[in-house]
Amino acid sequence: MERSLLERVSGSAVKRYISDTQVWGDEELERYTVSSAYTCLAKHLRGIPHVSFDLLWKASAFPNVLFTAWRVLIDRIPTREALVRRGAQMESTTCVLCWSEEESAQHLFIECVIAQRAWSLCQKWLGIVLVQSNEIKPHFESFLCTQASGKQKLVWTGIWPDVIRGIWDQRNSILYNQGVVDVEEVIQMAQLKSWSWLKHRTKSFNYSFADWTINPVICIKSVK
Ligand SMILES: [Zn+2]
Repeated sequence: MERSLLERVSGSAVKRYISDTQVWGDEELERYTVSSAYTCLAKHLRGIPHVSFDLLWKASAFPNVLFTAWRVLIDRIPTREALVRRGAQMESTTCVLCWSEEESAQHLFIECVIAQRAWSLCQKWLGIVLVQSNEIKPHFESFLCTQASGKQKLVWTGIWPDVIRGIWDQRNSILYNQGVVDVEEVIQMAQLKSWSWLKHRTKSFNYSFADWTINPVICIKSVK
């Protein structure tokens, strides 16, 4: 740590008669802006394809839902396996949904028998067949392949993050609040979140929650 500190300060000259101030990252840019933070973070994400991310951020879903999905897509969600990989001490790395495999992001959100059931219910609800992929990114992209365009495409795109968030919330509820596995609840929460967003953010969407759960495709087609 001492060596690291000396390396960091060796390039800077201490100036007398100038008060200490906090300076944000880039030397030329002393004021923090969101775009400068994005540029700074993007440097560390080189090599990670982010074509789909443009659509992800525009998708019809709550920001915290999209943020969770984004963390899953770039493998930054703190699953038990990820925490151990980063040096955390854990008693167990077993998935709390199935108690049989290690809890990696790929397992928890795609491969786990509980996740598989959730995606199966989701497909049944939407009347679609997803590309069967155990990889996270292609799984997400299977939601982007619908024939819809414009705002309707963004509604389709938003459902994947809602299901991901449903799985994550249930995992946390089991881990921290003595919750129990309930696959239907995962889908019901995803339906409720997507409906709430559409109801409050889309003028052309005037369907009840019951309509949304019974015939989502007709509801999506009304979005303009
Ligand atoms: Zn599992």
